[in-house]
Amino acid sequence: MEIVFNSPRRSRVYSSGPRVLVAGGAGFLGSHLCERLLREGRSVICVDNFSTGRMENLRHLLRFDTFSYVRHDIVDPIDVPVDEIYNLACPASPPHYQADPIHTMKTSVIGSLNLLELAAHYQARIFQASTSEVYGDPHVHPQPEGYWGNVNCFGPRSCYDEGKRSAETLFHDFHKQYGVDIRIVRIFNTYGPRMRPDDGRVVSNFIVQALKGEDITVYGDGSQTRSFCYVDDLIEGFFRLMNSEPAIQTPVNLGNPGEFTVRELAEKIVEVTGSSSRIVYRPLPVDDPRQRRPDIAVAKRELGWQPAVVLDDGLKSTIAYFERQLARPAEELAEVA
Ligand code: NAD
Ligand code: UDP
Repeated sequence: MEIVFNSPRRSRVYSSGPRVLVAGGAGFLGSHLCERLLREGRSVICVDNFSTGRMENLRHLLRFDTFSYVRHDIVDPIDVPVDEIYNLACPASPPHYQADPIHTMKTSVIGSLNLLELAAHYQARIFQASTSEVYGDPHVHPQPEGYWGNVNCFGPRSCYDEGKRSAETLFHDFHKQYGVDIRIVRIFNTYGPRMRPDDGRVVSNFIVQALKGEDITVYGDGSQTRSFCYVDDLIEGFFRLMNSEPAIQTPVNLGNPGEFTVRELAEKIVEVTGSSSRIVYRPLPVDDPRQRRPDIAVAKRELGWQPAVVLDDGLKSTIAYFERQLARPAEELAEVA
């Protein structure tokens, strides 16, 4: 398979620092990660099929000589010499990952397998973006890494939850069988600039609805809880885990332990935006977890990491981002979608 590097400066991509492949680098978290790695002096190759990722998220990175990207689906094998791999490729929003559940599962299982084989071949360190969804609808609260979870294996969320669980298994088995250096984070709900306005997750939905003066759609009675982490905090945790010595080869929770009901989040967003939107109630999706809050004792102890951005501050910068997005002319928005 021929890989086409689109960066006009592609010949200089290997010129400095470790070579890092970021799968899913055009997405919300991936684009922030690429930016951080470039600032740390790494050469970055973003590999993305642009299913939920956007060129718009990468445009500001093209000025780095050490950045390149390729349109590629990780379900197909890839061969690029690299020193480190971050696997963030997978749609993360329920409406997006449920749109093609078989491909979501393939992305987490076959895609992870392809990247693990690449890591084994080049003796590269490899990082997996796992998720709090491995805990399903948890019976233990808050959730520590040692909790095995409560997951439905054939519900609407299963393609994502079981795909990510299988990926964790593959990561561990590559470590055991081939000595691959693995790092796994279990990410709890994270929000911030560069989410898509049509992403479908709760923070972006509520902000866009509030800014447009539309009804704010709370699913169920809004008493279910989530913990919301600001993107900058999360990326700091990624970087610390990937570079930790001695290596931590078991999963690490990263998230903000502040816990809010979905109704509280809606009220907060109405307040911060000064919106006239009404809060309305819609049916709760099947298997929607009742509660979520990370136990971050391991990240605190092993990485010296804890979130620094409180929800009110993170929401303000996210709201400012969406205000700029929504102010753009319709044809410009269509072009970046
Ligand atoms: P996102 O949808 O913005 O990013 C996912 C990226 O992966 C997109 O750029 C998409 O185009 C790409 N992609 C999807 N399938 C692919 C494939 N088969 N081949 C190549 N590229 C593919 O979501 P995000 O919020 O940035 O999430 C990034 C990662 O973090 C995902 O793996 C997600 O499961 C994980 N995660 C995120 C959160 C969160 O709250 N943001 C929580 C838990 C886990
Ligand atoms: N949610 C909601 N309204 C929306 C979108 C989501 O009430 O417009 C709820 C959803 O039912 C869930 C919570 O918000 O209880 C978080 O949903 P999200 O899709 O962001 O993430 P996940 O369920 O995967 O944690």
